[in-house]
Amino acid sequence: MTELASAPERAESGELKRITHWIGGAAVPGSSGRVGPVYNPATGAQTAEVDLASVEEVDSGVAAARDAFPAWRELSLSRRAEVMFKVRELVSRRREDLARLLTAEHGKVLSDAVGEVTRGLEVIEYACGIPTLLKGGFSEQVSSGVDVYSIRQPLGVVAGITPFNFPAMVPMWMWAPALACGNTFVLKPSEKDPSASLLTAELLKEAGVPDGVFNVVQGDKVAVDRLLEHPDVAALSFVGSTPIARYIYENGTKRGKRIQALGGAKNHMVVLPDADLDMAADAAVSAAYGSAGERCMAISVVVAVGEVADDLVRAIKERLPKIVVGDGMDPGSEMGPLVTREHRDKVASYLDSAPTQGATVVADGRETAPDGNGFFLGVSLIDDVTPEMDAYKDEIFGPVLSVVRVPTYDEAVQLVNDNPYGNGTAIFTRDGGVARQFQFDVDVGMVGINVPIPVPVAFYSFGGWKASLFGDSHIYGPEGVNFYTRGKVVTSRWPDPATSRVNLGFPQTR
Ligand code: NAD
Repeated sequence: MTELASAPERAESGELKRITHWIGGAAVPGSSGRVGPVYNPATGAQTAEVDLASVEEVDSGVAAARDAFPAWRELSLSRRAEVMFKVRELVSRRREDLARLLTAEHGKVLSDAVGEVTRGLEVIEYACGIPTLLKGGFSEQVSSGVDVYSIRQPLGVVAGITPFNFPAMVPMWMWAPALACGNTFVLKPSEKDPSASLLTAELLKEAGVPDGVFNVVQGDKVAVDRLLEHPDVAALSFVGSTPIARYIYENGTKRGKRIQALGGAKNHMVVLPDADLDMAADAAVSAAYGSAGERCMAISVVVAVGEVADDLVRAIKERLPKIVVGDGMDPGSEMGPLVTREHRDKVASYLDSAPTQGATVVADGRETAPDGNGFFLGVSLIDDVTPEMDAYKDEIFGPVLSVVRVPTYDEAVQLVNDNPYGNGTAIFTRDGGVARQFQFDVDVGMVGINVPIPVPVAFYSFGGWKASLFGDSHIYGPEGVNFYTRGKVVTSRWPDPATSRVNLGFPQTR
């Protein structure tokens, strides 16, 4: 068995990169005296220090956004769309560069990192249609000579707080619609992989986004708490774990802010006995171990219904030795390391607790982790998992797939619906009627039918139910446009002054 390395390593060159804030259109080195370490998860070496903002530094980011708001808001829709098209072009052109930053700090393999940027680009493309998306309604002659129309206007300064697992795409889910709608933005990226935020800022500037419209404040809880309480922040989008999502929602709404807070997940893939076994096994393996399981839409539980279980576990197990785990920069690697040593160790701990609680470890990723100091864990499969076990109850967020065996479809649905999370789920079957019933029955926000990771395309909205989302708004797509704007209804008439008289009655339409 490979020993899981424990000693932190420093980058060989000894020179640590400094990752700064971006405020008012320029990189701004931190002055709080607080920094956090950034690692290359594939080597275990520290490669950078990221500035951690003080309250005053957050305030200066918000002030830059507030000052930039009036002019940005006033810019015509066609001009804002033009800027977004340019942003799209530059992000597309630099997608490999962004992807390399992701791989270097997150660990995901380069092809997956390119895929992340590409999915984010879809949201930017959607935002390019902002002149159409902001079209309001108009009703002529609702009363004699009276017209009514609705418009949507930006909120002002909005903030985004993002998780480590999609350091480029999740911020794009937020800033692309927010900016297109006429808001100015303060991003607080994950302190674990913050470099992509600065390249993004440079690209936005190059595209013609005016200084102060997009700002980055690096930091931790200090920065988040200041954004939550800052009176000039009108709305806050959060994506991360459920406890912090709940905290953001409760503390933001308490202060009158508009909040969308997306939380964690435990995504079930239900496999019925009539499913194509090879297709189901391929899908389970791809969706469980892609990005080392560090996706909020990763499949973490396969629910094997009836007699399919033994064959399915066998088919999944057969596929595992072929998965190439290694440095994400190596084109041969299919799965990279986990993001930090602590997280890797926590994920690995389920391989100890599960058998003591009665489960069967079919594949133990500690035995197949590459040597070295990287934060690697090989792919792991645990069978005979039941809902009381920690491996089922916790969002493991790593390359560990659990199998829960249930006798019937009804029990499968019950299991999914009893789970506190409701982000994504999938069903694998050849029976269209059962699939349609599943779509009707499950208490989950995003459902795949023979699709294991049903992340909605950019012109729909992304969001879970239950403990996977706090707030009323899903993210990006039409709900994103609604979130970043507020409605105004105008009632208008142009009467002949000669007809004017005093009337204390309530306005009537007929
Ligand atoms: P996290 O909740 O630890 O961190 C998210 C953000 O919150 C970071 O910017 C972090 O700096 C900040 N934060 C952390 N602790 C805080 C605290 N005590 N007070 C205030 N702010 C704090 O999440 P993570 O580990 O970066 O990301 C993984 C989690 O995100 C998983 O639970 C995953 O399911 C979830 N996620 C959800 C979605 C979704 O769309 N629902 C998408 C991606 C990730």
